This record gives sequence, C-alpha cells and structure tokens, in this order.
Amino acid sequence: MWDAGGRFSRRPRAEREAALRRWRDSAIPARRRVYHGLRRGTLIPYHARAKPPTTAAVAEPRLKTFRVSGDTRFSCDVCVVGSGAGGGVAAAVLAEAGLDVVVLEAGGHYEDADFGGVELDAYRHLYYESAAPTTSDGGVGLLAGSCIGGTTVVNYTTSFRTPDAIREEWGDPFMSSDYGESLDAVGERIGVNTDEGSPSSRDEVMARVAGIGGRDVLEVGCGEGMMFDGTGLQPVQMDVSMTRVGRAAGKSRFLLCADGYQLPFADESFEVVLLIAVLEHTREPGRLLAEARRVLKRGGRAIVVVPNDATMSAGRLLLGKFPIRYPDHLTFTTPARMRLWLANGFRVRERFMLPFRWLPFAANLYYFVVAERI
Ligand SMILES: Cc1cc2nc3c(=O)[nH]c(=O)nc-3n(C[C@H](O)[C@H](O)[C@H](O)COP(=O)(O)OP(=O)(O)OC[C@H]3O[C@@H](n4cnc5c(N)ncnc54)[C@H](O)[C@@H]3O)c2cc1C
Repeated sequence: MWDAGGRFSRRPRAEREAALRRWRDSAIPARRRVYHGLRRGTLIPYHARAKPPTTAAVAEPRLKTFRVSGDTRFSCDVCVVGSGAGGGVAAAVLAEAGLDVVVLEAGGHYEDADFGGVELDAYRHLYYESAAPTTSDGGVGLLAGSCIGGTTVVNYTTSFRTPDAIREEWGDPFMSSDYGESLDAVGERIGVNTDEGSPSSRDEVMARVAGIGGRDVLEVGCGEGMMFDGTGLQPVQMDVSMTRVGRAAGKSRFLLCADGYQLPFADESFEVVLLIAVLEHTREPGRLLAEARRVLKRGGRAIVVVPNDATMSAGRLLLGKFPIRYPDHLTFTTPARMRLWLANGFRVRERFMLPFRWLPFAANLYYFVVAERI
C-alpha cells in the first residue's frame, strides 16, 4: 500500500537504498519496524531463488549426537547448555580435564553433507527462528545460529585478540593473566593468524581516521560515497562530478560538489585530508596536493593512495578489457613521482604497498602514503 502506484519502486535505486537505510537507523521505532518487515519479507525469498552450487565430496560425520524428544535421564559431571562459542569451549575444556560432560543443544546437528549451498535451507535449519526474529517491539533484528556449534556455524570467523586497551576498559577479570592465557589457548586452537587477510586500503584509512571528529576529516574525490558508507563516521566529502555526488546523497551527511584544485574551505580547516585513488585522475596532482596542504592544519595529515597503472593494465589485458589502460587515468603515478609531489610542504610519515606489503611497487597494485603537513 505504501508503494501505491510504484511511488517507491520507481524512484532511482540510490534513493530507495538511502530511504531504507534511514528507516533502518531511524530513532522512530515504527520506521525500524517497517524496515525489518520489508527485510524479512523480501530478503529470504530473494536468497531462496539462488541456484545451489555444486557440493563437495561428502565426508563422514565427525560427531555422534542423540536426539532427545521426551524426559530422558543422563548421568554426567557437568551439563553444558548450548554448544556455541561459549558452551562449546567450556565443554571441551572440562572434558579435557577428565570430567564427564553432556552438552544440551536446542538446535539440530548438521554435518558437511547437509550443507547443500541453498541459502533458504541454511536460514531454516541453522539460524534461530529462521533468521527472522526481532526484538519484541519489532525495532531491532536479531541474528543468531541455533544448531550444534551455535552461531560459530554461521559467523564470518573473523577473529582477533581482544586489544589491551579494551581489556583495560573492561577491568577485572579481563586484565588477569588467566584471561590472557585463555585468549592464547583459543587463538592457538582455532589457528588465529594474520597471514590470510591483509587489511584493504579502506581498512588502513579507517585505522587512521578513527577517533577524529567527522568535521575534521575531508575526503576529496569521494565518488559515490562508498568509503564511509555503513561506518558511522561522517566526514566532509566532495567530488567534482555532480552525477557521483547525486549517487552519494543519502550516504553522506556533509557532501558537496566542488573542484579539488580550488577547495571551498578556509586555510587550516582539517586534521586529515583523504585523496584515495584521486591523483591519477588529474593532470596536475601537485596542484591538488598544494590545495590539500592549504586546508590542512599544521601537523595535519594527507592520506594518499595511488594505483600502479602497469599492474592494473596487465590485469585488464588478462581479462580482455580494452583499452588496456584505464581511460580515466590521466597521470601515471609512481613512488618516485609521489616523493616529488610531496616535497613541497609535507613530511612522509608512512608509506607502504598494498595489497602485498612485502612486494615492491612494480609487482603491487597500490601505494599508500601518510604525509604530515609542515
Ligand atoms: C552473521 C554473524 C556473523 C558473525 N561473525 C563473527 C565474526 O566474524 N567473528 C566473531 O568473533 N564473532 C562473530 N559473530 C558473533 C559470534 O558468533 C557470537 O558472539 C558467538 O557465537 C556467541 O557465542 P555464544 O556461546 O554466546 O552463543 P552461540 O554461539 O549463539 O551459541 C548459543 C547456542 O545455545 C543454544 N541454545 C540457546 N538456548 C538453549 C536452550 N534453552 N537449550 C539448549 N540450547 C540452547 C542455541 O541454539 C545455540 O546453538 C557473528 C554473529 C553473526 C550472527
């Protein structure tokens, strides 16, 4: 009814997405309820239409379980309720210590052979209330696994050691050596390491702007506003293309269409200026950097990322994309050229290659530089 005559569905996609995001994050519970109603009503049928991928060879079940359907008597030293991250680890530690442990799990038992790749099946069997529950007022969606293994079966498995600063904030017992040893033991058991996923340039940017007020950060060449979308950070963002600014609308709070050669800001306005994959689109990168320097406070930082056009072109050639060079890249960027451009009024504080820090620029995709305004 709210879409009578296609008033909503006929609007451009960017506007529809922005409206849904506003409802999702609204302070008005009724709006959040509408959002979650739509989410439940549309997302699951959408995933249900996906074709299942071919499944891998079926392995032997790794665990024996008993289904309990009525009053049953077990004898044990400890009964652990729930087999998720908490219950599973507790049960394993207690069993290793020689205790007789029974784990009671409300959800089903699924092994490799049961993972057919159909998203709807996964929602139905692995998630609590088929991934559809909300808080009783309907305002907040709840997502949790409900099966043997709990939410660890459906989570993304991103794992890192609780940072010391957070442990300090939490206080005792998280500061104890016991807790530290427990973190070590879990990390070792599940093989936590930093070798598999290196941070992207976006992660590197986020790590450097975290804690700085939104109005103190300027992103020049924000494109469609993807960098900060969903992060909760609200920097000042600008792009020279009105079309792109139009698409960024709704994602960004402080957004304007302006020319990077003539930034519409007073001298020394910002702590950080971001130029992420922008310099290569200009004919005079030095001029853009001079403007960035003008609007930076003394001691403020420019974060600059430039691509390696040689490896990018090689990739395009392999994929059969023509022209081989990105047509909108107007300047070939290299670390040596960057050094020259930054020689006027900046001191380089950090510089490294991405995505493979240990490889030289010639074999890499991006050059990441943090330069301090002097
Ligand atoms: C989509 C998603 C992605 C996530 N990604 C990550 C990530 O990348 N990294 C990360 O660190 N964390 C992630 N998390 C969070 C993490 O998985 C959870 O914080 C963690 O699993 C919680 O552990 P738990 O033991 O408290 O509960 P759970 O792991 O949820 O286990 C609880 C278990 O108890 C069972 N249970 C509940 N009530 C009863 C009852 N009355 N009787 C018997 N059994 C019962 C449930 O069925 C469930 O199996 C993610 C969560 C979700 C939803």
